[in-house]
Amino acid sequence: MKFIMYHYVRPPCPELPYFRYLELAEFRRQLDYFGQEYGFVSLDDFRSVIDGDSPSVPGVVLTFDDGVTDHYEHVLPELERRGLWGIFYVPTGMYRRRKLLDVHRIHCLLGRYGGPQMIQVLRDMLTDEMLSHSHVDEFRNLTYARQSNDESTTEFKRLLNYYISYEYREQTLDELMRRFFCEDELVDQYYVSPAGLGEMQDRGMIIGGHSVSHPVFSKLEDDDQRREIFDCFDFLEQATGGLNLPTFCYPYGGFHSFTATTENLLTEYGCRFSLNVEARDAATSDFRARPQALPRYDCNAFPHGQSRLQCA
Ligand SMILES: [Zn+2]
Repeated sequence: MKFIMYHYVRPPCPELPYFRYLELAEFRRQLDYFGQEYGFVSLDDFRSVIDGDSPSVPGVVLTFDDGVTDHYEHVLPELERRGLWGIFYVPTGMYRRRKLLDVHRIHCLLGRYGGPQMIQVLRDMLTDEMLSHSHVDEFRNLTYARQSNDESTTEFKRLLNYYISYEYREQTLDELMRRFFCEDELVDQYYVSPAGLGEMQDRGMIIGGHSVSHPVFSKLEDDDQRREIFDCFDFLEQATGGLNLPTFCYPYGGFHSFTATTENLLTEYGCRFSLNVEARDAATSDFRARPQALPRYDCNAFPHGQSRLQCA
């Protein structure tokens, strides 16, 4: 069985010229390709594999991360048209916080304005005291002029994710968002509403958990890991009127992104299986031996799965 991971899937969006997403037309071509090459696992067959009543079966299982509106507006109708189903992994922190998750704030800022412009803005905002001590000299020595969009995008993310002291990270992102977006409105445009999640489940899709705040679980204390898992599931249980197959996927993914504690907490909650990112098929032995770390491919490992940059 091949689990496939998607994030943004949408038609061309000129208002976000530097945004990375899979074009809807390419997504359709990739579904055609999967249908011809491997076929899709039916929901009934999938359930009997999860229940342990059947060995793993060949075919593709589609999964979509982050709860973005693309999934309701573009993916859901496309899957319905083809008689397919998918698993949608949704973080929940943005609904109460009324702010985008930090990972998506960074996508938005870079997507509309591009790396070279955003890094200048950020550089002007940062003072030495806001940087973690060990990175001050490194930061001062960075050259920003003539960086390509890709280089400056990497640098922008590195500044926000590593150089900045943790206490200043939130306020810096708050300030950047205030300057460039109306964030309260953006939350509703960006994510499927809680009611929409219930509707997707009613229309035959599986809704799964993806944490509250999209953290790297391996960096959290055990208590915080527990909160991130249990609060997320509680929210989704309410939104959907009861999840019909509790499942989870790790933010960022990869074996470095979670721990044995994370897997144990998921089992304790009653989560039936969890998805990692690891480019190989899920075999029967995986479902039996380690259901909370099943392998999953990025869609870009297959034809038509490459995300595009509108103005590269
Ligand atoms: Zn994610």
